[in-house]
Amino acid sequence: MTERVVIIGSGPAGWAAAIYASRANLEPLVFEGAMTEENRILGTLPLGQLSMTTEVENYPGFPAGDLSPYLKSSLPEQQVPFRDPHMTGVTGPELMELMRQQAKNFGTRIITDDVVSVDLSKQPFQLKTLEGQEMAAHALIIATGARANYLGLPSEDKFKNRGVSACAVCDGALPRFRNKPLVVVGGGDSAMEEASYLTKFASTVYLVHRRGEFRASKIMAQRVIENPKINIKWFTGVDEVLGDDKAGVSGVVLKNLQTNATETLAASGMFCAIGHSPNTDFLGGQVQTDDKGYIVYSQPFRTNTSVEGVFAAGDVADSYYRQAITSAGTGCMAALDAERWLAGRGVH
Ligand code: NAP
Repeated sequence: MTERVVIIGSGPAGWAAAIYASRANLEPLVFEGAMTEENRILGTLPLGQLSMTTEVENYPGFPAGDLSPYLKSSLPEQQVPFRDPHMTGVTGPELMELMRQQAKNFGTRIITDDVVSVDLSKQPFQLKTLEGQEMAAHALIIATGARANYLGLPSEDKFKNRGVSACAVCDGALPRFRNKPLVVVGGGDSAMEEASYLTKFASTVYLVHRRGEFRASKIMAQRVIENPKINIKWFTGVDEVLGDDKAGVSGVVLKNLQTNATETLAASGMFCAIGHSPNTDFLGGQVQTDDKGYIVYSQPFRTNTSVEGVFAAGDVADSYYRQAITSAGTGCMAALDAERWLAGRGVH
């Protein structure tokens, strides 16, 4: 059997596409990703980047307020994420569960597996999954998002989730980081945001940046520069993450990139905020991307890609806005584009 439309990815783009495609009676199939250790470490588990955040204050329709009764009435009991009783408004995990449920309510089918390769050279497209399933599809919507970058040090890899993180908002409040020195790497808005956020928990935040000026917006950079709990290390890189198997991260070796002098700092955590990479490896270069791997749209204001019948939505095709609302918007567009493209071929 050939699927009419397969959606790969389970962030706001994927679920918005699924809601629209299912309401158009296309019975979409969503591959939401696999629950693997590798995906956990990469930050590519089902429900995407938003599922690793706390409050979402800028998604329209969810002002501050007690959502508990609404969540309980909207989601199956086991799907209601843990909710801090002091929380008001919606959280990332809640928003994602609500989107997923909304898609399910309209008949979307969901498979908890990764698509690991595709053959887009002929119609119908062929897909293979991690668990070995094979599938054929007329139209594809790629909504696999992006993931945080790491420095690529072997010592960093060793301590991922034991002190090395790429998401201060997800991990910053953990006991291991409380009242201890922490390191943030990067000089963009994310690094500013993470460093400022971590001052709530850390004794000191060392902000390590490879150049002598920040890339971040002036206002966010200024806030960091004026924060007495943030110690900025300019022209500096991380040479090694120190620690042991039992306690995880205990410090970092920094290198001044102008003088090559090294120094060792005690720290219980290192947060990388050095940008993101789109999740496009499984496409095997068959869809045109830019030099950073982000899918390129082939027409303005459309979600078509270089392959006819393949549409893209969300962060996988957007290194610029990267917002839940823009992802959901392009997810909707991709479903409408796919529906019209299928109709043009007599597939309804
Ligand atoms: P970014 O702007 O690309 O900044 C990445 C930073 O990491 C840069 O300072 C870069 O250094 C550094 N970096 C990259 N690779 C590195 C490496 N291998 N080793 C050491 N340092 C490295 O990424 P971002 O901060 O994630 O922001 C991405 C987009 O999201 C931006 O458009 C940003 O404005 C937006 N954003 C907005 C907000 C907000 O407004 N609240 C918050 C977060 C993000 P160089 O400067 O030397 O290149």
